Amino acid sequence: YALSSITLIPTPLDILGEVFGYSDFRGPQRAIVDHVIAGGDALVLMPTGGGKSLCYQIPAIARQNAGHGVTIVISPLIALMHDQVGALHEAGVSAAFLNSTQSFEESSQLEKQMLRGELTLVYAAPERINTPRMKDLLRSLNERGKLSLFAIDEAHCVSQWGHDFRPEYRSLSLLHEMFPDVPRMALTATADALTRQDMVERLKLEDARQFVSSFDRPNIRYTIVEKTDATKQLLRFIENEHTGEAGIVYCQSRKRVEEIADMLQDAGLKAAAYHAGLDSAVRQQRQDRFLRDDGMVMVATIAFGMGIDKPDVRFVAHLDMPKNIEGYYQETGRAGRDGLAANAWMAYGLNDVVNQRRMIDTSDAASEEFKQVMRGKLDALLSLAEDTRCRRVSLLHYFGEDSQPCGNCDNCLNPPAVWDATEAARKMLSCIYRVQQASGISFGAGHIMDILRGKQTEKMTQFAHDKLSTFGIGADLAEAQWRAVLRQLIAKNMVRVDTEAFSTLQLMPDARRVLKGEASVVLREQASAGKASRAKKST
Ligand code: ADP
Ligand code: ZN
Repeated sequence: YALSSITLIPTPLDILGEVFGYSDFRGPQRAIVDHVIAGGDALVLMPTGGGKSLCYQIPAIARQNAGHGVTIVISPLIALMHDQVGALHEAGVSAAFLNSTQSFEESSQLEKQMLRGELTLVYAAPERINTPRMKDLLRSLNERGKLSLFAIDEAHCVSQWGHDFRPEYRSLSLLHEMFPDVPRMALTATADALTRQDMVERLKLEDARQFVSSFDRPNIRYTIVEKTDATKQLLRFIENEHTGEAGIVYCQSRKRVEEIADMLQDAGLKAAAYHAGLDSAVRQQRQDRFLRDDGMVMVATIAFGMGIDKPDVRFVAHLDMPKNIEGYYQETGRAGRDGLAANAWMAYGLNDVVNQRRMIDTSDAASEEFKQVMRGKLDALLSLAEDTRCRRVSLLHYFGEDSQPCGNCDNCLNPPAVWDATEAARKMLSCIYRVQQASGISFGAGHIMDILRGKQTEKMTQFAHDKLSTFGIGADLAEAQWRAVLRQLIAKNMVRVDTEAFSTLQLMPDARRVLKGEASVVLREQASAGKASRAKKST
């Protein structure tokens, strides 16, 4: 008799099978689920598509079965909560979400159900947690022993160093302060070392066990190309590799999103634009279409994507460079959730660097320390873009993982030809230095390259820069090559683009290393530069 009642309590594996219809746990899911069911705190880092939801849904069910009451899931996106609650209902799990669109009666109804212990999972937005009403509710639940677990999804949003800071996440530290005995778990798919540390501190998860999965997404092929004619390059990429397939194209500005969507439509593709400037009904309708239709391309700002669970997105293209590697990784991670081959393609150029720098420098809300961190993160992305080694090795290294060349990125598949640009770099640095010395002011990239290439312009005569010793010393290289040299010098923090002073170039202390011959500069051969220099030789 006793034995049979024991066997009636479903194990986590039973729940996985009976409720969700899966036969095995994936990767670290089992360990996480066991730890949380036993009442431990957890920090879960798992790539997109890794299966984070089950990591709290199964403990929620198991702990509810054991009489611990309701699990509160904190998630930033109402649409996502809606989907999850719908899916849980279909699986026969009692779940609900609390949101600001509900009437007082509806909310009261849900609260009563929670207090009676009838709900297993309740989703709420972070700003909701800090309201007096919610705090009262949580207190009452806790007094009755019916507050089982807090699961904080997209936990990187708590950190200002992360790529999607949401101030309302800050108040979540109160969970630990008010309910020190209720277990908590935080989950995220993107956090570098700094963001991770900040998350732990802000959410008071110092004693939580950390479950860090590999961030690798082996089915995603990474390609980063130099921007020459971005729209043409994008069209060629889609037509060559993704005809009729679903994808997302990220652009920096709303205006550009509209332009690119028009361009793709003109080219006969099923494309739509998505950005925060559009009416919410229009956005909803386009998002639905993207989820439902086959082979639709969504051209969007970063306003699009979080919580979009479309398994067969075959490519993510960045037409403009994102802010940092975390953002890049989060966005590219939306490709190939089904595990089948997918492409992450990015075009980038000097302008991207200058624009991103400008945005950091001119953001007025932030402290100097903040800007410094942001610049460092941008530089890391820049280095990734310029890297001639395996992209995946560099990416994973950024998230603290060691790996071997992958065989599934542009650099592995077509090892870039490289040239020693140390001499060229030295010429450029000297030129920036001489000009600054001679004129007492700094100049921008275009003019510096004109001096190096010995181009006679009005500005040249005006400042007598054609009399400088560095005038024309770089005529042997094409402009595209000089741009590559400059980008590399910026990536290595030897030159800074001063966006507060007409994008002029400033030498940084590290420049000394190349000037003194202590560091070398190796660059990838540029397809465009090759053509230009050949054309030049024949004249
Ligand atoms: P994440 O939130 O980490 O991006 P999800 O929780 O949405 O990932 O899970 C991604 C997909 O993998 C979902 O379709 C989910 O049902 C599925 N999944 C998760 N765990 C398992 C498992 N153990 N076995 C089979 N499929 C799983
Ligand atoms: Zn590789």
